[in-house]
Amino acid sequence: MIDSFIEYFSDMPTLHRSMLLVLGLGFFFIIENTFPFFKTPYNKLKHTGVNLFFTLTTVLVNFLLAFLLIESSKWVSTQEVGLLNWLNLPIVLQLIIGVLLMDLIGAYAAHYVQHKIPWMWQFHLIHHTDQHLDTTSGNRHHPGESVIRLLFTLVAIVVVGAPIWLIFVYQSLSLVATQFTHSNLDYPPIIDKAIGWILVTPRMHRVHHHYRMPYSDSNFGNIFSIWDRIFKTYVEVDNSKLIYGVDTHMEHHEHHNLWSMLAIPFKGYKGHIQYDNEEKL
Ligand SMILES: [Zn+2]
Repeated sequence: MIDSFIEYFSDMPTLHRSMLLVLGLGFFFIIENTFPFFKTPYNKLKHTGVNLFFTLTTVLVNFLLAFLLIESSKWVSTQEVGLLNWLNLPIVLQLIIGVLLMDLIGAYAAHYVQHKIPWMWQFHLIHHTDQHLDTTSGNRHHPGESVIRLLFTLVAIVVVGAPIWLIFVYQSLSLVATQFTHSNLDYPPIIDKAIGWILVTPRMHRVHHHYRMPYSDSNFGNIFSIWDRIFKTYVEVDNSKLIYGVDTHMEHHEHHNLWSMLAIPFKGYKGHIQYDNEEKL
């Protein structure tokens, strides 16, 4: 059983990965439209079109650079580099520790750094300009951000000493987690309480998409909420008070025109707007 699990993820077919992306989007799209949290109408066709364009560029960058992940995984294995190569752990522990650390380095740290370093923020803010968060927003990343995230994944592979099967397991979980946490799904608070101790939930991640600081600099987590709790970046806010977007980029073309959005990182750093009063949500 464990052998076939490892065998499958060591050579996960591209078709299956694409199916996970499409079926995941379809699944969350149906349930978020059946039980929507924000009920404000918006042009879903146009919104989905923009987000699918950036999802496709994300897929393309990851596809073109996938060989870097494979080669670095082979390298850590032959050189016996990284935590899992130094500790002789059972597969289940390798899986748990590996996925946790891949999430910390390849996602939480990558995300945190992109909020703190101005030239990286210029790429990441395209993800934040979305004014109607739904499941299609999950992979709305500028191609430059996709490259930055991939570089962090390489660091994670070396630190963890990640075998190929672990990389594919992590990426599959991360994909579904992203589609879930960005969804406009309304669901009982008890479910949020039950899973929110360990996993990032939509209610938690929505706060990160509020249009102004300091709320946009909180809840950076991807799969696991524990990193935000450990590093004190965890914030709870009544979601009905949230306004999505980025205060410096609220113009229509800055979140709807593909060419404008692709050019944003090269237009200079706008900084953060300084308000007279700090907002208390
Ligand atoms: Zn962010």
